Amino acid sequence: MRVLISADLEGISGVVHQSEIQPGRYDYERGRALMTAEVNAVVAGVLDADPAAEVLVTDAHGSFRNILPEDLDRRALLVRGKPRPHGMLDGLDEATDAVLFVGFHARAGAGPAVLAHTMSGDILEVRVNGRPYGEIGLNAATAGHFGAPVVLLSGDDQACAELRSLVPGAVTVAVKQAIGQTAAITRHPAAVREELRRAAAEAVTHRAEIAPFAIPGPVHVEVDVGSPLAVDLATLVPGVTRTGGGRTISCTAADVAEAYRVVLLVVHLAGIKPS
Ligand SMILES: [Zn+2]
Repeated sequence: MRVLISADLEGISGVVHQSEIQPGRYDYERGRALMTAEVNAVVAGVLDADPAAEVLVTDAHGSFRNILPEDLDRRALLVRGKPRPHGMLDGLDEATDAVLFVGFHARAGAGPAVLAHTMSGDILEVRVNGRPYGEIGLNAATAGHFGAPVVLLSGDDQACAELRSLVPGAVTVAVKQAIGQTAAITRHPAAVREELRRAAAEAVTHRAEIAPFAIPGPVHVEVDVGSPLAVDLATLVPGVTRTGGGRTISCTAADVAEAYRVVLLVVHLAGIKPS
């Protein structure tokens, strides 16, 4: 069995604020340590179910350099750094049997949900074939493009509900109950790790019963951006057009993986400040 664990930071137990997820700020070092420990619980659960499993962990938050490599379970490989073609899912390929989302968060506009956003604070909404998707949906659909089901998600209650609406059979572990964007009732990290280990083992054991979430191509992708400069830059790419009054770019992509790369590009462009 080959398994990919994609790990974000907003949906880790105990984490409720931007300062805990941004390098150099108050409690970031604690946040990344909690993230690493929560990932380790999932790695252990996967290997409880199949000691011969090949486990890749892909760091999927911010710089993609948060997990402490020396503290990660040594039986897993770590995908680290950016940019990269599959964003939060590099390490994924046609041989991947199951994908697990750890520390994920709800999409921009959801709420109340802890640190909800879609890829970056500059992106207001992403739609595929007219339907809004956040990171959970975009990543689940990209996993589905490669034929892999998302079998487990951990995060706040809103993130869990978001995955279940797309993948009804997936196992979810709510590590905190959202009160708002920067507040939650959170469970103890040690208790969460115990449940995650059991849940990960159960999820990969039952992976054949969970259908991949697929959006067949070609797909129409639209991105609402806060930065008008990002729209100007994105429309330099052939096939990308400006729609919806100047705050939206749109294009038709051959498949979801290609649409995902367009979204990644717009995220980078939205980070460029006028010179
Ligand atoms: Zn993140």
